Amino acid sequence: MKVNQAELVISAVSQKQYPEEPMPEIALAGRSNVGKSSFINKMIQRKALARTSGKPGKTQTLNFYKINESFMFVDVPGYGYAKVSKKEKAKWGKMMEEYFSTRERLRMAMLIVDIRHDPSEDDQLMYDFLKHYELPVTVVATKLDKIKKGQRAKQLKRIIEVLEMEEEDILLPFSSETGEGKDEAWGIIKPYLKK
Ligand code: GDP
Repeated sequence: MKVNQAELVISAVSQKQYPEEPMPEIALAGRSNVGKSSFINKMIQRKALARTSGKPGKTQTLNFYKINESFMFVDVPGYGYAKVSKKEKAKWGKMMEEYFSTRERLRMAMLIVDIRHDPSEDDQLMYDFLKHYELPVTVVATKLDKIKKGQRAKQLKRIIEVLEMEEEDILLPFSSETGEGKDEAWGIIKPYLKK
């Protein structure tokens, strides 16, 4: 897909701030520092529209990016920071639940994981959380450029096993460095954008 337009519409902390424009939404989730912002930026061909979510103490928000005046990428706050307080974790949980339990125009979720490692316990919880809302989930195994070609198949198999991925869900190897997997990612997203 050719992206002609990409803009941050709002960084929302609660439901009343969600954009009203009735467009399909694709949610993006992943642990802090996994490469979620890099994924978004690569997809929309911007160097730094999506900022890194990985900094502790940064306000956690749902970032709605409007793409080509036709759909939204919704960047949900990263998880898995050891230093986050209980209060912040509870706030994060409430924000996630409020969005995923109410947002009817949400069509699909992309869960970003690191191809080099087995998914963490938090990744497993996130996958289960998304499936709880009966969402199709595309698992994006990023940082593909960081492993040897010969290791790809083994790592991909581990991700399917550890997450106990359902048959209907797709696992996509990706690299924000080389752009590998980008066309395939758009191919996966496109069918969900039909009105
Ligand atoms: P976020 O916190 O999930 O948004 O993570 P970022 O997108 O900020 O990425 C965290 C770090 O990983 C940064 O230093 C990125 O440059 C690096 N990174 C992200 N994706 C890739 C990738 O596909 N390949 C390589 N080599 N580095 C990546």
